[in-house]
Amino acid sequence: GLDLRGLLKRNWLLIATIVSVLLGIGLGVLVREYASLSQLDKQYFGFPGEMLMRMLKLVILPLIVSSMITGVAALDSEVSGKIGLRAVVYYISTTIIAVILGIVLVITIKPGVSQETDHIDRTGITPNVTTVDTLLDLVRNMFPENLVQACFQQPTETLLITYVSTYVSPLKQVIFDQKLPYFSPLQNITKDYKIVGSYSDGINVLGLIVFCVAFGLVIGKMGERGRILLEFFDALNEATMRLVQIIMCYMPVGILFLIAAKIIEVDDWEIFRKMGMYMVTVMTGLAIHSTICLPLIYFAIVRKNPYSFILGMAQALVTALMISSSSATLPVTFRCAEENLRIDKRITRFVLPVGATINMDGTALYEAVAAIFIAQLNNFDLDIGQIVTVSITATVASIGAAGVPNAGLVTMVIVLTAVGLPANDVTLIVAVDWLLDRFRTMINVLGDAYGAGIVQKLSVRELERMDVTSDVDLTNP
Ligand code: ASP
Repeated sequence: GLDLRGLLKRNWLLIATIVSVLLGIGLGVLVREYASLSQLDKQYFGFPGEMLMRMLKLVILPLIVSSMITGVAALDSEVSGKIGLRAVVYYISTTIIAVILGIVLVITIKPGVSQETDHIDRTGITPNVTTVDTLLDLVRNMFPENLVQACFQQPTETLLITYVSTYVSPLKQVIFDQKLPYFSPLQNITKDYKIVGSYSDGINVLGLIVFCVAFGLVIGKMGERGRILLEFFDALNEATMRLVQIIMCYMPVGILFLIAAKIIEVDDWEIFRKMGMYMVTVMTGLAIHSTICLPLIYFAIVRKNPYSFILGMAQALVTALMISSSSATLPVTFRCAEENLRIDKRITRFVLPVGATINMDGTALYEAVAAIFIAQLNNFDLDIGQIVTVSITATVASIGAAGVPNAGLVTMVIVLTAVGLPANDVTLIVAVDWLLDRFRTMINVLGDAYGAGIVQKLSVRELERMDVTSDVDLTNP
C-alpha cells in the first residue's frame, strides 16, 4: 500500500518548501490588496528572504573550491580529462538543441509581428559589445591575476553592467536613465563598455574553477603528501555540506518572504498582458526542452526513468525558481544529485560547479527567442545567415552569462549587436525579465543535473576501474 507517513517524512522539506511558495504568493497578494506599505516597509518585509539568499551565497565559495579540488584530485588526470570532455560535449550539444528549439518556436509563433511597441520607452545608452570581446573576457576571467581577489571581485569598468545587475539589480535604471545608484565612482561612465558575465556575486567562479582544476590535478599526482591536502579539502566539503543542510531547514521561511516580497514589489502587471505571446513562446520552449528534449537524451543514454530524475531534483528546481540564480542554487543542486539521485560524488563535484557556470540551456533558448522577438518588433527580416548568427551568439551569450539573476538579459546585448539590432532594445523586455529569469534558471539547473547523470553513465567503466586501483574513497560512505 501507499506509505503516506514515510512519504511525508522523507520529503518534508520539499513539501514545506512548496507549501511556503503557495503561502508566500497568498501573503503577497493579500498585503498588496489590503496594506499600503512604504518603501521601507517593503524592504523590512523582504528581510527574511534576503537572509536566505545571503546564506546560500555564503557557502558558494567553500563549496566550489572544496568540491572542484577533491573532485579532480580523486580522479587520475586521464580520467578527469575524459569526464571533462564528455561534460563539455553534453553542455554544448544540449545548449544548441535549446537554441534551435527556441528559434523554431519564435519563428512559428511570431510573438513580435504587428505588436504595438509605443508603450515602451526606448531611450538609454547604447552598449557596444562584440562576440570576440565576450570570448576574450571569458578567457581573461579564467585566469584571475590574484586568487584572493577572485573571491571578492571588485567592479571594474568591464564588468560594470553585470556587476550592477548582480548587486543592486536596477538594471532597468542603468539602461533607462544611465543612473548607477550605488556606485559613485562609476557614475560618469558613458563610453563603450564591455559586458562580462562570469562574475557571480563578487566571486569570479570561472577563475576559481580553472584554478581548482589545476590545483586538484597537481594534488592528485603528489602521492602521499598530496593526500593530506585532498583529505583537508574533502573534510572542508563535508563540513560545508553540513552547513547547507542547516541552511536548508530555514529555506521554507526564507522562500515564503522572498516570493511575497516580490509580489508586493512588482508594480506593472499590465505589461504581462502586453508581452503575453512573447512570454508564452519562451515558456513553451522551456517546457518542451525540460520535459521532452532533456528527458529523451537522458533516457537514450542512461536508460532510467527521466521523470523520477526530475522529482529527485525537485527541491533544487523550486529553489532555482524562487531565487533565479544557478550559483546560489548550487548547494541544493549538490544535495539533490548526491542524496536523492545517488550520483557519484566524483562526478557531481567535478561537473556541477562547471555546469552552473557555463551550461545554461534555458538562458540560451531565451536569448534566441528574445533576439528574434525584438527583430520582429522592428520589422527586421532576418536571413538564414543572421539566424545562424543568432544561434551561435546566443550559445556564447549563455556560456558567458553568470549564474546570477538577470545575467541573461545583460549578455543578450551580444546577440542583438551581432545581427545589427539596436542593443537598446533590451529595454523592451526588461519589465518581464524577472519572471522569465526564474523559469530559465530552473531549466539551467535541471540541465546541469541531467548532465551529471549522463556523464556518470558514460564514465562507469573508468569509475569502476578506479574503485579497484585507487585508495582514495570519495564515494558515499
Ligand atoms: N539567472 C540565470 C541563472 O542563474 C542566468 C540568466 O539570467 O539567464 O542561471
